[in-house]
Amino acid sequence: MKFYEVQPALEAGKKITHHNLRGKFISIEKEEANIFGKTLVLTISDYSRVIGYSLDMVDLFADDWKIIEDIKEVKLRVTEYFICPSCQHKNFGFHLDNGISICDKCGQRVRTLPRL
Ligand SMILES: [Zn+2]
Repeated sequence: MKFYEVQPALEAGKKITHHNLRGKFISIEKEEANIFGKTLVLTISDYSRVIGYSLDMVDLFADDWKIIEDIKEVKLRVTEYFICPSCQHKNFGFHLDNGISICDKCGQRVRTLPRL
């Protein structure tokens, strides 16, 4: 993509990059209002170090700009299971019936105690 094609994403807060940036990405640190209207203060980063950046001719004429998609966040979940004492099968999604559960694999009846 040309720079003008990724500019809206940059202004929306996304990170952009192209091949010659060798894994680094550019993002907006802030917008400054001044006598010229507005100026975007850019930074370049490789995930460990962030420094100020100004686009140069290589950047402006690169035709392989791309938008770095955000890495989605997921919440950790805890799944309860018990290990059957007879066959060692891991039983997920079991249901308790007066504290007694039944092994899905071998039918062993077990009393489940509070989790470790
Ligand atoms: Zn079992």
